[in-house]
Amino acid sequence: MNGHFSIAIDGPSGAGKSSLARSCAAKFGFLYVDTGAIYRTVGLAAFRRGVDRRDEAAVSALLPELDIQMAYNAQGEQCMFLNGEDVSKEIRLPEISICASDVSALPAVRAYLLEMQRKMAREHNVIMDGRDIGTVVLPDAELKIFLTASAEARAERRMKELVAKGVEADFEEVLRDIRYRDEQDSNRETAPLKPAEDSVLVDTTEIDFAASEALLCRIIKEKLGVEEIG
Ligand code: C5P
Repeated sequence: MNGHFSIAIDGPSGAGKSSLARSCAAKFGFLYVDTGAIYRTVGLAAFRRGVDRRDEAAVSALLPELDIQMAYNAQGEQCMFLNGEDVSKEIRLPEISICASDVSALPAVRAYLLEMQRKMAREHNVIMDGRDIGTVVLPDAELKIFLTASAEARAERRMKELVAKGVEADFEEVLRDIRYRDEQDSNRETAPLKPAEDSVLVDTTEIDFAASEALLCRIIKEKLGVEEIG
């Protein structure tokens, strides 16, 4: 431990990582770091420039031109800035999910974003979610959770989120996107999505948000010996 606690939560798209990590972070007074948002910001930049997102040389050439910053607003929400512009909303569009998955398969992109993520963990107690947090980014995290659920359950939850945000979505399309990303994220050569050997597996297919949250809080308390604040 570097003076701060780190909790790594990895798992496929739509398993509930972000909402669970966010709420648990608030309960224990930890900083929630959504690493997918960082990859989404690179994906958005590639999309806007019209570069081939699977062409490592083309995407690498773009990286030095990008100023990617993370900040937390008054509500404690993580916001992403791309060359000074707040892109927090735009990076959530379904087409940008695919762009993020494409660019995140490139080793140059992963290497470029590694230090940014580790710095957050050195400076704060964090709950960080992503795909390779327990395996690559924070291999010494005090607690590693691999959060998963069936593809159908995840697609249903994603639909609800998109509808709540006023984004139009089609179930079959959302399911297809989830499967595309599962396949790509799990089979890429660099930092594939897989549970760390010392991770705790949590499957939320059959349990709702409240039960998943209670389970995670219990695991955090037991493993870290910390108590909820307030
Ligand atoms: O978590 P989220 O769905 O926002 O992530 C978008 C994409 O970014 C994922 O499909 C994955 O390909 C990529 N990603 C990653 N490593 C992370 C976080 C996200 O490869 N640590």
